[in-house]
Amino acid sequence: MSTITFRKTIGIIGGGPAALFMYKRFVESGLSGLHIHIFEKKGQLGAGMPYSTEGARPEHITNVSGNEIPFIQEEMKDWIGHASTELKDKYDIDQDNFNDYKVVPRLLFGAYLTQQFEALQKAAADTGIHTTIHFNTIVEDLKDEEPAGKVCIYIKDDARIPVDIAIICTGHQWPKINEGKIPNWFDSPYPPQKLAVRINYPVAIKGSALTAIDAVRTLARCNGHFTKNDDETLNYILDEESEGFSMAMHSLDGMMPAVRFHLEDTHLSQGEMIGEEEGWEIKAANEGFIPLDLIYERNFLQPLKKQQPAFYETVKDMSIETFVNHMMSLREKLDGFTLFEAEYKEAEKSIRRHESVAWKEMLATLSYAMNYPAKHLSAEDMLRLRKVLMPLISIVIAFVPQRSCREMLALHKAGILSLVAVDKASEVVPGHREGAVYHYFDEANKKVSRSYKMYINATGQTTFMLKDFPFKGLREKGSVSAAYIYFKNTEAAIKEIAEGNPQVQDNGAGKFILNLPGIQINDHFQVLNTAGAYNDRIYIMAVPHIGGLNPDYSGLDFCEAASERIIKAISNAAQ
Ligand SMILES: Cc1cc2nc3c(=O)[nH]c(=O)nc-3n(C[C@H](O)[C@H](O)[C@H](O)COP(=O)(O)OP(=O)(O)OC[C@H]3O[C@@H](n4cnc5c(N)ncnc54)[C@H](O)[C@@H]3O)c2cc1C
Repeated sequence: MSTITFRKTIGIIGGGPAALFMYKRFVESGLSGLHIHIFEKKGQLGAGMPYSTEGARPEHITNVSGNEIPFIQEEMKDWIGHASTELKDKYDIDQDNFNDYKVVPRLLFGAYLTQQFEALQKAAADTGIHTTIHFNTIVEDLKDEEPAGKVCIYIKDDARIPVDIAIICTGHQWPKINEGKIPNWFDSPYPPQKLAVRINYPVAIKGSALTAIDAVRTLARCNGHFTKNDDETLNYILDEESEGFSMAMHSLDGMMPAVRFHLEDTHLSQGEMIGEEEGWEIKAANEGFIPLDLIYERNFLQPLKKQQPAFYETVKDMSIETFVNHMMSLREKLDGFTLFEAEYKEAEKSIRRHESVAWKEMLATLSYAMNYPAKHLSAEDMLRLRKVLMPLISIVIAFVPQRSCREMLALHKAGILSLVAVDKASEVVPGHREGAVYHYFDEANKKVSRSYKMYINATGQTTFMLKDFPFKGLREKGSVSAAYIYFKNTEAAIKEIAEGNPQVQDNGAGKFILNLPGIQINDHFQVLNTAGAYNDRIYIMAVPHIGGLNPDYSGLDFCEAASERIIKAISNAAQ
């Protein structure tokens, strides 16, 4: 590998998976003379939130298997091969039966990521990179010192560390709104240890996807146990002391997430993504925008044609709207748990035969492929993406692991877990003394108000507005700005305004914009200031703050892809 001397100081803020992938990029970049500071508020690197006790207990598992995890320093299965017996016993890993197609306990995966970080530190030292790890250190603020070309990282007692480049990898955030004020109201299930309690009454859960399943698995374990049948299905036996315990998941139209099926590799290997140069060509030919229909054709229909020609024939002439309506109406026709069980069986077959379910895989690929072009959509297409396509994509890419499915089905059969269909206008308000009251219209359009002694919001990570950006020094000085995109047609914007869309506004320069959550970033994940200029000293991979322009739901493949774009920008500047 040829090396370029680049005597710069880098600050990586946060030490979770995003930081791990970023650090790996530096180690492999061929840039020598770097000094990298990594600031992590906890005492462990790599595991981040989902794979540490902040986000998991032993019952929680990843939704990707070893073969879908981008390579770091060592394959997961090889690492399992020499991991300590104590660790394997703790997570009930049978080494002889372990292969790269298995999902694993998240805490075990966290231990793997931590070990990968350590291995990378050795590799970094070998390539002449000096690394300083600041454990148990919260970065309290960041300030961009433009004249000096530095970014100042503020830690406790106003101590500051100036760096040439700062990369924000602060990851997940779960703000508390009523939690701690209203007994038995939880704004998220994290850390899940707080749900490890005995309960003798019904619990309301908002959501039915992976976050909700995390809550269900913990509560189920603390109030009963599972037994296994010969065919691997489970039964749930409720403890006598928890006689009144049950869980009601509330989801829009009573939808359940789709089940994890066999995937051969990470989405990165699918190829055919729109590259940067091509993106500019497409924009030049389309009035400055990348059309959503073009991405759909290219990253969904065309790969589908190759992989599942019969299915392609049935959907090829449908618009995005017609396709989504078609797929959603198939789901709506069936009871949520009936469909869940049917999908579980289909997915079992897919995993046993190592055969993917092509249309679902293509939809996941499409969601992934949307990352880069989303910033270049027109506001009209962004509205279509958010209103039409994302609801279907978010159901399909949930990838509920089989083990979780078996538990959910057993709980449902035991009458402990139910699914309640709620409408978009449904509302949850704090209960008089504890828990919450759920107000919604049911499927018969009858108004329901039901009190629960415990309530858990399990709708997953939200994208924050600029006002919630954690680093005041960047926010208040205008070094970061709120995300927005332009309308292609004035009439479409005026129609949105007439329909009461508060996010549409005239920008005062004769153009209409759609305001989005999160901050403005460019293709290299550099932040843009309030004047619209990019800053090559500050990069961001923290998904909750860039979700407006980056609608894919994070994940390890995102960490891999975003870090690649960042290192390219830094390496180009170094040459
Ligand atoms: C419950 C859950 C399960 C998931 N499971 C999967 C899965 O199975 N597969 C998959 O691909 N994706 C999964 N994801 C998606 C997930 O977003 C990524 O896999 C990954 O965790 C993202 O890493 P990150 O580093 O961006 O964020 P995080 O994991 O949140 O890590 C951020 C790190 O930054 C530190 N930090 C934050 N603020 C500061 C500060 N101010 N100063 C210093 N340090 C700070 C935190 O302590 C943390 O260690 C899951 C997400 C959740 C919420």
